[in-house]
Amino acid sequence: MGRLTTALGRFGTYVMYDRHPTVLIFFLLLLSVGEYMYLPGVWPHLSLLHKTFGSISIILPYLFLYLSAAGDPGVITPANHSRYMSHYPYDFALFRPGQTCRTCGLLKPARSKHCSVCKRCVHKMDHHCVFINNCVGYGNQHYFILLLFSTAILTLYGGILGLGVIADAARRRNASFVLFPKPSSWSWHQYLMVLTTGIQDDVGVGSVTLLSLMTTPLVWGLLGYHVYLIYCGTTTNESMKWQDWQMEMDDGCAFKRSLPPNRTKNLRYEAAWTRWPVDAVQVIVRTEDGTPPDPKIPPGVGEWERIWRLRDVENLYDLGFWDNLVDVFVPNYSFRQADVSGTDLERGKRRAKKPPKAPRASNLVAAAT
Ligand SMILES: [Zn+2]
Ligand SMILES: [Zn+2]
Repeated sequence: MGRLTTALGRFGTYVMYDRHPTVLIFFLLLLSVGEYMYLPGVWPHLSLLHKTFGSISIILPYLFLYLSAAGDPGVITPANHSRYMSHYPYDFALFRPGQTCRTCGLLKPARSKHCSVCKRCVHKMDHHCVFINNCVGYGNQHYFILLLFSTAILTLYGGILGLGVIADAARRRNASFVLFPKPSSWSWHQYLMVLTTGIQDDVGVGSVTLLSLMTTPLVWGLLGYHVYLIYCGTTTNESMKWQDWQMEMDDGCAFKRSLPPNRTKNLRYEAAWTRWPVDAVQVIVRTEDGTPPDPKIPPGVGEWERIWRLRDVENLYDLGFWDNLVDVFVPNYSFRQADVSGTDLERGKRRAKKPPKAPRASNLVAAAT
């Protein structure tokens, strides 16, 4: 009995806290079985144009699923550590220099996080995604966005094409059936009855079409959420950290003061140079009892100012939507050497207008995936 409980416990730990491809396989099966049930009934009705676009939209989710699942999400190793250290400056709010991962034994680069499922540190960690059985991070975030985008297209496109086939089948039963708008002379009961005969005509097409139409808002919502995170220049992980800061601010326990741009960096803990075009100009700290910290204790200069709202602090990692997008889609992009849009001053103003974003309810959905 004891052995059984131990085995069950070990199995539970494995399912909950270890990397395993169960959900990935489920996702693959859902895609493949859905297509197997759907295509024979729909394919013969399609024009050459829809056959071409249909083939592309079937292939792309598999391709991006493979690339985001098999690719390196940005695992931090001794070999790439110094490169990742020079990617982003520390913002002295969410990420501070000198913190070492106890498991990996390496200094944590700014924006990195140790994944408790993968048991490794990942650069610009967004979240651990069970659908791809991998972390979403610096190395594969673009593939993950493209996976969401291609799956969103597939479910919407497949749903609309399937509806067309269902409407044709319903029209064979009742020639005056119109899918949209509902004929005004028809009662809802009559309309739904004829529509149901169309769905029942080919159960494979009918059920997969309904499933596609029901999942498409979810996939588009998740895609929209991740585009919104890029717009804000943040990640799922960071937006949760900002939410923690919002709570500190609500309690009156958060303070900021300025960080001189010409400060001397401790090169044991910080890279002398990063490819990011801006550096931290503020330091944010919290105190247990809400009294301002000792002004003599570094870092930063001047008086501590109590902050109440996220609007009062800047997000160092937000360069504006376009540059944030470039950072996601062009690995190792060197902002300093490139002609980036706007000067540092303009960026500062723009950032000041756009406060860091704490998560909304949709975060819970994203975190769950
Ligand atoms: Zn680690
Ligand atoms: Zn992970």
